[in-house]
Amino acid sequence: MKKKEIIEYLETSEPIELFSTADKVRKEFCGNGVLLRALIEFSNCCNKRCLYCGLNAENQTLPRYRLKKEAIIACVKAAVNDGLKTIVLQSGDDFTYTKDDLCSIVKGIKGLGREIAVTLSLGERSIDDYLSLKDSGADRVLLKFETTNETLYQKLHPGQSLKKRLELLNQLKQIGFQVGTGNIVGLPGQTSEDLAEDILFFKEFQPDMVGIGPFMPQKETTLAKELPPSVDLVLKVMALTRLATKNSHMPSTTALNTLDKSAGHLKGLSSGCNVIMVNYTPISNRKNYRIYDNKNSLNLNQVLDIVKQAGRKVDFSRGDSLKSKDQNKST
Ligand code: SAH
Repeated sequence: MKKKEIIEYLETSEPIELFSTADKVRKEFCGNGVLLRALIEFSNCCNKRCLYCGLNAENQTLPRYRLKKEAIIACVKAAVNDGLKTIVLQSGDDFTYTKDDLCSIVKGIKGLGREIAVTLSLGERSIDDYLSLKDSGADRVLLKFETTNETLYQKLHPGQSLKKRLELLNQLKQIGFQVGTGNIVGLPGQTSEDLAEDILFFKEFQPDMVGIGPFMPQKETTLAKELPPSVDLVLKVMALTRLATKNSHMPSTTALNTLDKSAGHLKGLSSGCNVIMVNYTPISNRKNYRIYDNKNSLNLNQVLDIVKQAGRKVDFSRGDSLKSKDQNKST
């Protein structure tokens, strides 16, 4: 897979063959099951100022919330009762939760059953925090690099550093977390070449999980008037990433299913994806987790219906990494 070839695919208008090849590779390396992850968006408070994100610290109009441990555990119980075994704890970069607070939440969740896997998606905490969280039982981390273009990264993430984020990703892998990363497709100013570099990064890093979603404008941000990319461009990045990573878990993302409300997930599932997120955030908080507008989160019944329509089977197992441990260690 050469950069030039990837760019050609990204710029082709009828990529049917690419999608079906990705579908075959997904079937060969990940099987036919669709894994489920329970998403709990436990705080929309954030100290960062990412230009595309509605949670950014400068958004004064957003009603902020923080769930306490008991409320989070109640969401986890609902997910576990439904048979889900992976809990994704997601929030803005909210440092009012101390390391001890987070460790206590993770321990509380693991106390409900050792077979439950916990994924942390809470941003750039110190490696010391992550080590303690690992000791408390956390299994996985999701930290998207968003774009590998350093200039674009700098513009969209004031005061942040791509280098630092990538260093943290490497450290998280080294300390033994299953690591997920990902990008945003269609960021204002992003080129096909940038996307090709993102895909080459996935090929090199071989993440345990890759989350790919379209840029979706959010009305309270400075990028409110920018347009999202085409559905096909997102699917092409997903399909090429499936070819580049073979057996990385890849969710058909909520953002894709927001860009194409009628068929986003169906298209994602037939372009290389093998995972769907089910939302367990309390309904009253969900509308305020406005990373982008009109977020089309789904409940379990809606997901089951889509998986059936896709002619696939739901897989209720934990869905641990398909990468071998040795491979994880050596890179
Ligand atoms: N604070 C955590 C979680 C951020 S929210 C962290 O920094 O990792 C999770 C993801 O939402 C982000 O990684 C980003 O890729 C995505 N996101 C935020 N705003 C978005 C937007 N407007 N369009 C598309 N994706 C967005």
